[in-house]
Amino acid sequence: MRETVDEVVKVAAAEGIDAHVAKGGTIALARSRAQWRRARAEVAEARRWDRDEDDLRLLDRAEATAVLRGSRTVGATYTPDCAAIHPARLVRGLAEAVERRGVTIHERTRVRSIGPGRAHTADGDVRASTVVRATEGYTASLRGEERTLVPVYSLIIATEPLPPSTWEEIGLARRETFTDHRHLIVYGQRTADDRLVFGGRGAPYHLGSRIRPEYDRDEAVFARLYATLVDLFPVLAGTRVTHAWGGALGIPRDWCASVGLDRDTGLAWAGGYVGDGVSTTNLAGRTLRDLVLDRDTELTRLPWVGHRSPDWEREPLRWLGINVGLRAMTLADAEESVTRLPSLVARAVSPLLG
Ligand SMILES: Cc1cc2nc3c(=O)[nH]c(=O)nc-3n(C[C@H](O)[C@H](O)[C@H](O)COP(=O)(O)OP(=O)(O)OC[C@H]3O[C@@H](n4cnc5c(N)ncnc54)[C@H](O)[C@@H]3O)c2cc1C
Repeated sequence: MRETVDEVVKVAAAEGIDAHVAKGGTIALARSRAQWRRARAEVAEARRWDRDEDDLRLLDRAEATAVLRGSRTVGATYTPDCAAIHPARLVRGLAEAVERRGVTIHERTRVRSIGPGRAHTADGDVRASTVVRATEGYTASLRGEERTLVPVYSLIIATEPLPPSTWEEIGLARRETFTDHRHLIVYGQRTADDRLVFGGRGAPYHLGSRIRPEYDRDEAVFARLYATLVDLFPVLAGTRVTHAWGGALGIPRDWCASVGLDRDTGLAWAGGYVGDGVSTTNLAGRTLRDLVLDRDTELTRLPWVGHRSPDWEREPLRWLGINVGLRAMTLADAEESVTRLPSLVARAVSPLLG
């Protein structure tokens, strides 16, 4: 995973893709005593896995605010293994790179189901000895895959370009990406053109794992993201948001991404990245290459290869469980901001969420 970040950066450079890359690492602020406790526990856990200071380290208040000046910061964790990137530029550049090598990409052809040796579309079957399912948040719309991955939405906003004086107050001089140690995930980056792009979970899950273009936009979630951003950086009060969008992530029941190939059927799969797929897809792609070409390599021996996540529950239990989980995480953050202690709600719900 760590090497894959460098691999993506290297390939973008080699293919002449201007993906606005900056490898500044990522900082996760602790903005309450409860968050600070989780930050320290995360570092202690990393040490048990032989991850040293160069991989993940604890920053005290002064060290943290030298990187990023979020409100109420008491400390942070920092890892260098992360890069800021413009993912649409990356994916378009990669598509052009494979087309230059003679690959044909067919877009706007919906596959209804896949089976050994074929992908079934409205206009006919496409035949191939190996069929790779890499449909992530859309997987449930394939016949027979309704319970494999659930689509959970992540929504995101981008501010207008900010002046140097504002960046001096915020930080992120090396375009470090950032988050904090709250329960409901938020994340942000400084773009190459000096905007602040800030996203988070919290949009509802839709019954039957439904996906609709209109679900990419939820004004209430956008407003909450803006309020959270201004709470983090009060200097941004009144800043204009120029873009807002979103998309579905693919979540497996046990939160474990996987990649594999069933040699008997020729059916392969990759996905379940839980919102961390920009570099993980690269690792999955290289691993699939080795699996399809029947090579035994260090990639094909990684523990996620061949892993099968259990199916999600049937509806409406799935709808109820996921939305209760999302609400519980919001409630847990609110509880911690009042009690300043680790949330009891989060402790009660986390075993159910896996
Ligand atoms: C707002 C937001 C912010 C994110 N931030 C980050 C981040 O900071 N870092 C990070 O690592 N990841 C992030 N992610 C997640 C990341 O975008 C995904 O993990 C990644 O795109 C997964 O790649 P993929 O190729 O597996 O799936 P996708 O990019 O979802 O591609 C799946 C493709 O399959 C096609 N498809 C689906 N069903 C069918 C069908 N039936 N027939 C034909 N084609 C089909 C789709 O059209 C799509 O092109 C974010 C996602 C969102 C929405």
